[in-house]
Amino acid sequence: MEEKKIGRRTFLKAAAISTAAVGAANLSKASSSAAQESAVQKTGFPHKELGNTGVQVPILQLGTAQRLNPVYDKIMHRCFKEGVTWFDTALSYGWGSSHRAIANFLTQVKDRKKMWLTSKSGSGSPKGLQEDINECLEELKTNYIDLYLMHGIDDEDMLEKEFINLGDRLRKSGKTRFFGFSCHDGNVVELMNKAAKVGGIDAILFRYNFRRYGDRELNLAIDACKKAGIGLLAMKTNGSVPASIEKVVQFRSDNFTLGQAKLKSVWADERIDSVVSEMDSIRVARENIAAAKSEKHLTATESHQLNQLAALTANYACNGCAHICESVVDQKVAIADSLRFLMYYECYGKTEHARQLYNGIPAQSRICGEEQLQKAAAVCPQGIDIAARLFDAQRTLAV
Ligand code: SF4
Repeated sequence: MEEKKIGRRTFLKAAAISTAAVGAANLSKASSSAAQESAVQKTGFPHKELGNTGVQVPILQLGTAQRLNPVYDKIMHRCFKEGVTWFDTALSYGWGSSHRAIANFLTQVKDRKKMWLTSKSGSGSPKGLQEDINECLEELKTNYIDLYLMHGIDDEDMLEKEFINLGDRLRKSGKTRFFGFSCHDGNVVELMNKAAKVGGIDAILFRYNFRRYGDRELNLAIDACKKAGIGLLAMKTNGSVPASIEKVVQFRSDNFTLGQAKLKSVWADERIDSVVSEMDSIRVARENIAAAKSEKHLTATESHQLNQLAALTANYACNGCAHICESVVDQKVAIADSLRFLMYYECYGKTEHARQLYNGIPAQSRICGEEQLQKAAAVCPQGIDIAARLFDAQRTLAV
């Protein structure tokens, strides 16, 4: 699929996300809404309606793929206290340790209904997804999840009837209130368009940040989902590249740090309901929460700097559109996954995690001849030197 560019920020509007919006909330549709409403009033944290669910959710969620303290996690407590009452987890996060740490946290806050929990399963079958939700509930020590996602899907068949019907059954059983999917990979546009048509999907978690605003096809898919009442949740909002590369633009602002500006730019898109952010320190949590609560919008100068950053560092920022580059190579090479794991290493400092994931790719699919990789680089819309970056991944991550 060809990516056509339109003017960056054409859709960016100054979103008036404020606590005032909370007062207009229709809270009648969800059993735990009263508890959430009282939490909103107490913390003054901005909320939005999740798609057409009628349920108000915080515009910022704590992503929990990082290591959590299983005994007392200060970041979870800080977030909860400030009004970030939605945690995003998955069966695979921390190989189950994320679930168990959250379960312990729930016993500490003593009120499950004040929390929103997303969990996910990477199973590719309705049976597996059904079994996995039971495991999620068991590990989280709760009798329901707020949002259950099919994790990281890239197969449009997972939006066929058997999966949509499973979502219905899980909702009816009370094991989850809402059902949807997350996606990292290149066919996000196709998945979103299909979801908007088939129905039965309450929310989609997808990669979205200041680097993607000019992507016309993605914008149309987001519009279609919005029109269909699907909740839209953004992840990977940092659009990370190595710090040494990011320095090419010295971000200057009296209002926001660069990280805050990146978040503000996503929240300025009124179609996005909430952002998942992996806040791995109190400092980051404090900054992100302050950005969410700030009623200031990005200035034109701040937005311009983000645009500059996107343009000048594009050749280090893989968008995950694997179907573009991997389809022109004669053999199977996991280009997008390798670059994502390299990003975990270079940008997030997750050496062990990145190595485990990278070494999970079959050795013959990690790299191939340079001539083939030049063909892939020639079609990359980001202008990434794919051969050089795959060799970087091989050198740093292969064990
Ligand atoms: S290397 Fe380029 S074409 Fe391939 S997934 Fe990344 S951005 Fe897309």
